[in-house]
Amino acid sequence: MRKATLKVYNSLTRKKEEFKPINEGYIGMYVCGPTVYSDVHLGNCRTFVSFDIIYRYLLYLGYKVRYVRNITDVGHLLDDGEDRILKGARLEQLEPMEVVQKYANGFHEMMDVFNTKKPSIEPRATGHIIEQIEMVQQIIDNGYGYERNGSVYFDTLKFAKAEKGYGKLSGRIIDDLLSETRDNLKNQGEKNHPSDFAIWMKAAPEHIMKWNSPWSVGFPGWHLECSAMSTKYLGKTFDIHGGGNDLKFPHHENEIAQNMGACSCQPANYWLHTNMLLMNGRKMSKSDGNTISPEELFSGESPHVTKGYSPMVVRFFFLQSHYSSPNDLSDTALQGAEKGYKRLMEAYRTLNGLTTEGKGDSMDEEINQLIESAFLDMDEDFNTPMALAKMFELVPKINSFKEGRLDINQLSEEALNNLKTSFKGFLFDIFGLKDDMESAQGNSGAMDGLMELVIDLRQSARANKDWPTSDKIRDKLNELNIQLKDGKDGTDWTIN
Ligand code: AMP
Ligand code: ZN
Repeated sequence: MRKATLKVYNSLTRKKEEFKPINEGYIGMYVCGPTVYSDVHLGNCRTFVSFDIIYRYLLYLGYKVRYVRNITDVGHLLDDGEDRILKGARLEQLEPMEVVQKYANGFHEMMDVFNTKKPSIEPRATGHIIEQIEMVQQIIDNGYGYERNGSVYFDTLKFAKAEKGYGKLSGRIIDDLLSETRDNLKNQGEKNHPSDFAIWMKAAPEHIMKWNSPWSVGFPGWHLECSAMSTKYLGKTFDIHGGGNDLKFPHHENEIAQNMGACSCQPANYWLHTNMLLMNGRKMSKSDGNTISPEELFSGESPHVTKGYSPMVVRFFFLQSHYSSPNDLSDTALQGAEKGYKRLMEAYRTLNGLTTEGKGDSMDEEINQLIESAFLDMDEDFNTPMALAKMFELVPKINSFKEGRLDINQLSEEALNNLKTSFKGFLFDIFGLKDDMESAQGNSGAMDGLMELVIDLRQSARANKDWPTSDKIRDKLNELNIQLKDGKDGTDWTIN
């Protein structure tokens, strides 16, 4: 285990704090997952890739991590009170569970495309109705919940008065919440106070997804699933709770209230929030056309980009900003990311080929220090742009070693090995990148064999002074973004 003093910005205290896990060597982390009623969008991907990097770094440090990320498949209502899943089912004429499966599959595929690690547990709200009913009962027993016509509401005023502090995470004052509550507008009249929120909702007779409960045949409030499932799998208080910053209010605020109301304990010691993905400086929004799907971005079939960008280039682009800062997607920014990504991967391949006779060690300190400072950047609230910058300070050094401008023999074998292991560790284990070229070339060797054949054919054409054929081969390969490089040891090829 690397000895690290990890610091994280805690949204609850609004301070950067030293991270101290509850149990030594083990971390419980809960991240709010998607509501699976439509295709996952790039903003969601940014948030889940950010938590993937956090997860990867904690694993790299040697922690055992239980990473729980839920799937919301019931109870997340639209502003008009309709359940998102039921709306999807109505529009697509599918069973609600078909909608859930369809978009959960799509979400998982996209997470694979972005090379994110799977969570340890991925619980679904509909699979935890009993736990949610039990929690509602605990909240009622403790005096923070009241029943009206079969629905149960959380009593925010009573909770705030008991100095449990409703509004601490989002910094909202209860009177400001009068106009902000959105759940189940139809039933506002049933509440004691407009900021009270439903923890159990009585279902209308035509409502499809509903369960028996002591109060009515109904369904749980959206916020309740995360309180119940995080408690079940991580305990009453665990280490990290994450999500996008648009979830701070009401979702996370209400989660805290529910957990405090049920067991008088804070669910998480550290609350981490990602910032939003923008496009060309503006919020991504379907209604004004300022949006792009991951597929359109990969294929280049969108007016917002001049060409397609690979998922790893997009992942590299995400890494270039800190998870808590806004991230502004644009064609120019992606072109820059593509250049940077390729340069980094090329340096990795170059580094793999380096050897030293280790005659001196005058370069050791500089190299070791750069690596160490990249780790310190990650220790400082997972600062990926800074750590990435350190990798880019190493790139010209690696290239100079290769080209002889720096004497590789001034690097001890130990330092070269440290450089190789750490560079690889950062690129692939921590940043979670993959080498696009390696993947393309790794297609069961078929690509290698094919290219060998094409290069042979071109060589024969050249030997026979058949220039039209040899030019045609080169030009056609260029069109396919495959470049040939003739050298004294033969012809090499690269995919651009
Ligand atoms: P949802 O399925 O809407 O509950 O969103 C799933 C996750 O994606 C949540 O953590 C959201 O905060 C996050 N999210 C939604 N929109 C964006 C965005 N534009 N940028 C970054 N994260 C987002
Ligand atoms: Zn949640």
